[in-house]
Amino acid sequence: MASIVYTYENHVYLNITNACPCKCEFCIRNNGDAIGDASTLWFEGHSPSFDEIKGEIDAFDFSDCSGEIVFCGYGEPTCAYDNLIKTAKYLKEKLPGCKLRLNTNGLSDLINKKPTAQEICGVIDSLSISLNAPTGEKYEALCHPSFKEKTYPAILKFAKECKDLNANVKFTVVDVIPKEDIEECKKISESMGIPLRVRTYEA
Ligand code: SF4
Repeated sequence: MASIVYTYENHVYLNITNACPCKCEFCIRNNGDAIGDASTLWFEGHSPSFDEIKGEIDAFDFSDCSGEIVFCGYGEPTCAYDNLIKTAKYLKEKLPGCKLRLNTNGLSDLINKKPTAQEICGVIDSLSISLNAPTGEKYEALCHPSFKEKTYPAILKFAKECKDLNANVKFTVVDVIPKEDIEECKKISESMGIPLRVRTYEA
């Protein structure tokens, strides 16, 4: 069984699925089987049930955890939507005051075929949404999403809805794209009032 709860650079991370509708060329999954203190982040054959996630959370010592608890593993967390929401609620009950972050590709509405921003923002404190590119065409060329041209507008819509719900939202890009594209992403971020973080690619 893969690690569900793992730590990396003073944060606790939750790996709840390997599913993802994208195949980003910079995806860290292409570079190895694990991050931080995880043994492997690949599940064999099935995504974990809520009971399996809860079991690992109950077995983990959070007393040294001063940073955020981050939903981010070897897959898009909103592909395991029900477990994401249930797990976030469980953590809030178990660890009152804990801060939860969701690292997401912003495609939850398309993945789950329903609006999801309100429910997510009701249980998650901050969201880091991968913008990745300044246009839909460039996004598709870099991330190969199964939703094709529906993808990029859906990301912007989801981010706007989270922002309108007063969620703490950030966009990210990875510095594998050209500098001029990063500048264009900054303009999009500024126009939406959402900060942009430029992430360094780690091979
Ligand atoms: S959205 Fe995230 S998990 Fe999915 S392929 Fe891209 S980087 Fe990897």
